[in-house]
Amino acid sequence: MKIPYLNLAVNDSELKKELLLGIEKVLTHGRLILGPEVRELECKVADFCHKKYAIAVSSGTDALYLTLRCLGIQAQDEIITTPLSPIPTLNAIYLAGASPTFVDLENNFNINTYLLESSITDKTRAIMPVHYAGLMCKMDTILEIAEKYNLLVIEDASQAFGSMFKDKPAGSFGHTNCFSLNSMKILSSLGEAGIIVTDDFEVYEKLQQARYAGINNAGECLNPSLNFRMDTIQAAAVLTNFNYLSTKIERRQKIAQYYNSQLKDVVQCPLEEKSFRHTFYAYCILTDHRNELKKYLQEKGIETKIHYSKLMFEHLAYSHLKTLELSNAQKIVKKILSLPNHENLHDDEIQYIIDCIKKFS
Ligand SMILES: *Cc1c(COP(=O)(O)O)cnc(C)c1O
Repeated sequence: MKIPYLNLAVNDSELKKELLLGIEKVLTHGRLILGPEVRELECKVADFCHKKYAIAVSSGTDALYLTLRCLGIQAQDEIITTPLSPIPTLNAIYLAGASPTFVDLENNFNINTYLLESSITDKTRAIMPVHYAGLMCKMDTILEIAEKYNLLVIEDASQAFGSMFKDKPAGSFGHTNCFSLNSMKILSSLGEAGIIVTDDFEVYEKLQQARYAGINNAGECLNPSLNFRMDTIQAAAVLTNFNYLSTKIERRQKIAQYYNSQLKDVVQCPLEEKSFRHTFYAYCILTDHRNELKKYLQEKGIETKIHYSKLMFEHLAYSHLKTLELSNAQKIVKKILSLPNHENLHDDEIQYIIDCIKKFS
């Protein structure tokens, strides 16, 4: 058997038909950039996240970068975040000119909210939690602390579209929140895309200008910026995929539950926590023999991924940051492994993966 970690080919003929129909509509009206489908997507996502405004942009990275710029984050400002996220999270903080402060992880791979408060200084301006793998951070505690110290909260909800905490969706908690809609994310485009949500009209207006060259409606450039617009074809694809979101999430949850039931005595499985709706952007296990297991599964035709093999500050570009002791995060990156978990997996493939892991152990 050959099981890829993720297969982005569109095999469902009904879905393929709908995607092509959406693209055809765009070809017919010809408004290829920021066209009507982009507007429709913005309304739909704003609604979904219980926010007034949404701004569709070119990627999740761009969403984070633009958000920090438009919130007036400046040099010397400190932003508290997690060490465990893809590097774009840190790059956005760095390129916006701010300094990152990293807080260690809980065993659920998210920022440890008990350690948050002690890392706040008088330079701290914002907290940027990342809902790792689709499990939300404890947003009630984060918002409480932010309020106490007058800090902004910016959710990097890239991996968590549709995830919930206490019945409220990812993207509804922070001041201005970001999603990646790239083709690997749970709500996906056919390439690169991202979106930002906020209730703050002033920030919304700034984001709109910063999205393209920093010009206002009259075409006057007020604050030089680059080009971060979304293609209408991508918006049309995201709108189509939106209709399949809950089916996708339910299938992933089902697979995850089955993995949990079969593997809980063999490896450390994701913790099931009350008040959270986990959407399983990734299904991550922990094992002391991670590298050997990865190799063994590869030999059996099963592709797995390591999300991520380094903490963000361990990348060479950030060697100027002082060495940090984040013992739980450092332990986790050595043991973490993501198993295939997506809607196109067949039951016999899932069983094969489980059998192989049991045989290895
Ligand atoms: C995917 C991702 C990003 C980057 O999004 P792109 O659309 O690839 O630019 C940022 N943060 C997190 C947590 C992500 O998962």
